[in-house]
Amino acid sequence: MISINKLNDVLPKIQQKAVNAWLPPEVHIPIDQDDFCKMNVVVNVGEKIEEGQIIARDSGALCNVHSSVPGIVKEIKEIPLPNGKRGTAVSIITEGGFSFLGKPHKKQPWDFLSGDQLIRLLADKGVVNTFEKPIPMSVEIARRKKYFGNCNLILRLFDEDPTSCTDSFVAKNYLPEVLEGMSILSTIFAPSSVYVLYDKTTSMDETVVAVRSLFNTVPFKFVPTDVSKYPQGNRNSLIKVIKNAMNNSFAVPVTTRDLMVDPVSAYSISEATTIDQPVITRFVSICGDAPGMQKVFKARIGTPIFNLLQECGGLVEKPGKIIINGTLGGKAIHDFATPVCKSTKSVTITRRDILPDAQPCECVHCGRCRKICSVQLHPDTLFAKFYKNAQLTKAEINTSRLCADCRLCNMVCPSRLPLYQTIKQISQITKIEGFINEE
Ligand code: SF4
Ligand code: SF4
Repeated sequence: MISINKLNDVLPKIQQKAVNAWLPPEVHIPIDQDDFCKMNVVVNVGEKIEEGQIIARDSGALCNVHSSVPGIVKEIKEIPLPNGKRGTAVSIITEGGFSFLGKPHKKQPWDFLSGDQLIRLLADKGVVNTFEKPIPMSVEIARRKKYFGNCNLILRLFDEDPTSCTDSFVAKNYLPEVLEGMSILSTIFAPSSVYVLYDKTTSMDETVVAVRSLFNTVPFKFVPTDVSKYPQGNRNSLIKVIKNAMNNSFAVPVTTRDLMVDPVSAYSISEATTIDQPVITRFVSICGDAPGMQKVFKARIGTPIFNLLQECGGLVEKPGKIIINGTLGGKAIHDFATPVCKSTKSVTITRRDILPDAQPCECVHCGRCRKICSVQLHPDTLFAKFYKNAQLTKAEINTSRLCADCRLCNMVCPSRLPLYQTIKQISQITKIEGFINEE
C-alpha cells in the first residue's frame, strides 16, 4: 500500500460541479459497450431517430444501446474505442427535438414492480455495472444470484484509482440518487446485508438517518474507509475493510462473490428506474497537466474526447499520453477522436516532457516491486521465470492469483518491466504441458 500523497502530481484537482458538455454536432456511439454481449445494430443509414431510441441490441436483450441524441444515422463504421481496441459504432448527426434533455423529470414510482420486472427494466435501459470490467447489470445480478445464492451488496463511494476522481465526485454531488439506486438494487437482489463504504474524512451522520427508510428491512451499515492509501477500492481491499469494521459479526460473511457497485452504476439505476431514462450520458473528468483546465462533464455517450478537450481550453502543453480511467489502472489510447462510452470515467492527458523513458530494460534487482506489493508476491521472480520459459510451480501460479490488480509494481519498477501484465498472464495458466512443475 502507498499513501496517495505520493501521487500528488497526478491527482486531479477538480472542485466545481459537473457541467453539461456542449452537444456534439455528431456522435459515434460504440455498440460493443462491454465484452459480454455481441450486439447487433437495429437502425439503418439515413434513418431518423430519437434521443433514447434503441440502436443496437443483443440476442438475449440483456443490455440495449440507445442513441444519446436525436438525429439522422450517417454511417456505421469501425472506430477506436476507449479500451484500446477498435469496434463498430453508429455515427449520428445531431438534429431535431430532444425527448429527455430540457424536459421536466417527473419521478415515477417503482416499488410496485417485481424484482424480475426491475431486472428487465435495467436491461432495457442499458444499465451496466462499471465497478470492475463493465458488465450488463441484469447479467451481474442474475449470475450472482444463480451461482452464489445468498450474497451481500456493497457500494464503494470513492474511486478505485485515485487519479480518476469521477466516482468520488458523483458520490459527493449526487448522493441521494446514488443511494436511491442502491435501494432499488437492494429490492431486486435481496441481499443479506448492504455495506456502503465511504471516505472517513466526510460526514455521513445525516445520510444514515435519511436512508434508513430506503433499505426497508435489509440491514445496512456505513463503513468509514481510509482512502488516503492505495489500493483501497478493489474487491479484496473492500472485503478487508468491512471485516475489520464488523469484527466478524456478520449475518452472511462478505466474500469476493458479493455484488459490488460503484456510484456511477447506482446513479444509472436510479435514472433508469425513477425517470425512465436510458443510459445516454456519462460523467467524465478531464484531468492531467496538458489540458487548459480540469473539469467534470456530464457528456453524451458517443461524444469525441476532442470535443470535451475543446471545452477545457484545448491543450496548453504538448500531450504525451492519453489515459482512460486513471493513470494507475487505466488504458492508454492514441486518438482524441475516441468517443465517450458507458465505461468511460476519466481522461488524463499528460505532458510529453514529463514522460519517463518508456523503454523496458533488464531487471536491476532493486527489490522495489517486492517491497510495494500488498500481497507479498515476488513480481521480479515471476516475471523472470515466465520470460525465460522456466517451469512455474503450481504454488507460483496459485499465488499469482492473489494479485490485487493495483499495478504498483509497474509504477515503481525503474526498468519499466510489464510486471502486472505478466502476473495476470501467469494467473490465467491452467494446464500447459511442460509449463507447470508439480513441485
Ligand atoms: S503483483 Fe499485483 S498486487 Fe502486487 S504490486 Fe503488482 S499488481 Fe499489485
Ligand atoms: S522493481 Fe523492477 S528492477 Fe526492481 S527488482 Fe522489481 S522487476 Fe527488478
